Amino acid sequence: MGAAERLMRYCRIDTQSDPASGLHPSTAKQFDLANLLVRELKELGIEDAYLDEHCYVYGHLESNIGKEVPTVGFAAHMDTAPDYTGTGVNPRLIENFDGCDIDLGDGVVTSMADFPQMKLLRGKTLMVTDGKTLLGADDKAGITAIMEALAFWKEHPEKKHGRIAVAFTPDEEIGEGPMFFDYERFNAAFAYTMDGDRVNELNDETFNAASAQVTFRGFSIHPGSAKNKMINAAALACEYHSLLPAYMVPEHTEGREGFIHMVSMQGNTETAQLGYILRDHDRGLLEEKKKLMEAAAAYIRAKYGENTAEVKTEDRYPNMKEVLVNHPEVSETAWQAIIDLGYEPENVPVRGGTDGALMSFRGLPCPNLGTGGGNYHGRYEYCCMEELEDAVRLIVRIAERTAGE
Ligand SMILES: [Zn+2]
Repeated sequence: MGAAERLMRYCRIDTQSDPASGLHPSTAKQFDLANLLVRELKELGIEDAYLDEHCYVYGHLESNIGKEVPTVGFAAHMDTAPDYTGTGVNPRLIENFDGCDIDLGDGVVTSMADFPQMKLLRGKTLMVTDGKTLLGADDKAGITAIMEALAFWKEHPEKKHGRIAVAFTPDEEIGEGPMFFDYERFNAAFAYTMDGDRVNELNDETFNAASAQVTFRGFSIHPGSAKNKMINAAALACEYHSLLPAYMVPEHTEGREGFIHMVSMQGNTETAQLGYILRDHDRGLLEEKKKLMEAAAAYIRAKYGENTAEVKTEDRYPNMKEVLVNHPEVSETAWQAIIDLGYEPENVPVRGGTDGALMSFRGLPCPNLGTGGGNYHGRYEYCCMEELEDAVRLIVRIAERTAGE
């Protein structure tokens, strides 16, 4: 069975997660894919394939070499984003892509003006949607790559590998992927999430993340007799926000540049609140952003009085690089394997978090690798079949390198 056929089969199964359900998994339909994967794992000879009550799938391929080498893990998530419907996904293949706009159907067009990076895929085979749903290559391309690698090993017992751990997790898209992850059952020395974009990209850095809540207290009085007395909390909030650097926002930053992003505002004369998220790959620069926010609050207090502005910050998740610098061989093995495949590797810092970030801090170093998918979380999503097949080879090559081959 080819990777394309397998990916289509997984994409047709609706596994959308739901941030509002409060259940684990957040949607029962994720079990539809999980049950299928356990069946297929067993067919591939993974005898310990296991599905738990929270919809996590685990399995191991035993080593076929004499010596002791570390167990390497590969993980991918089963759910699709709540942002766009995953019901009735109807994938199709475009062979020998001409690099021009793609008419998905229903008047929906993937425009190369909007997605210029897709022009690089001219001549390749792309899987796309019918314009009515997302595709779900995020992250069923990752699942496909892992399953195809297991199928490859079954057909090629001469290919050397140590013990391989695989895991398929629910609810990554709602930030709950690692919540019930069973590190003991997975039992790998290190792992890779197969949840990226281009197959030559390695992600071993995420943001450091914090949030901030700024509260303003005013002095409300009848506007008719307010002169020199009223302090308008809503106006303090506006002034406060204007004190923050205008360039340090998501819409003006890229690469390793961090930001302070206002995500909510509410207020009246008496009281007002602004909500922010703070992000930076560098922990020191994240701390500086917190100080900037505190300095702006101090300015408001000095101008309008004690207690008129108060900042509360909270750390959310750290940059996985802090863990991975202590295990340089994990990124290095993947980097060299990408070169072995004939690609020029690229280290792309993630402008967000990954499941692997939290797993890394729990003692399982876990960078992220690409699968050939792109334009995630919407109907323009696609997956390049040649790159997906190279993601399979990448997994096989990483296992070979870990086995000292
Ligand atoms: Zn994903």
